[in-house]
Amino acid sequence: MAADCIFCRIANGEIPARVVYSDDHVVAFHDVAPKAPTHVLVIPRRHVATLLDPGADDAELLGRINAAAIAVARELGLADGFRLVFNCGEHAGQSVFHLHLHLLGGREFSWPPG
Ligand code: 5GP
Ligand code: ZN
Repeated sequence: MAADCIFCRIANGEIPARVVYSDDHVVAFHDVAPKAPTHVLVIPRRHVATLLDPGADDAELLGRINAAAIAVARELGLADGFRLVFNCGEHAGQSVFHLHLHLLGGREFSWPPG
């Protein structure tokens, strides 16, 4: 837990969020400023800042994050397609430095991303 981390505070219930999935390892909640009709963030409960930080390459943790995102995509009816995105670091536009996987769906997406 990093005391000044907004996503740690969401994970432990200090800051409210629209949680759609939660277990001992990960939490998924709707993004406060959605970039698609469905925009959910999946985070580990454990504080890891970016994909390059120690522990972020934990295959089991990454698997749990991915599995939760896929379960939420199914649950929210995104069978027509969805996108999963990790922004890592400033050049990729990461603004919250607690690891999170974006689940975006409900519209068409262009490629390559900007
Ligand atoms: P990033 O830009 O780091 O890849 O994504 C951070 C995401 O977190 C953004 O899409 C932003 O809208 C979302 N976000 C930032 N603060 C909050 C918050 O307090 N609650 C929720 N639900 N989402 C947040
Ligand atoms: Zn954190």
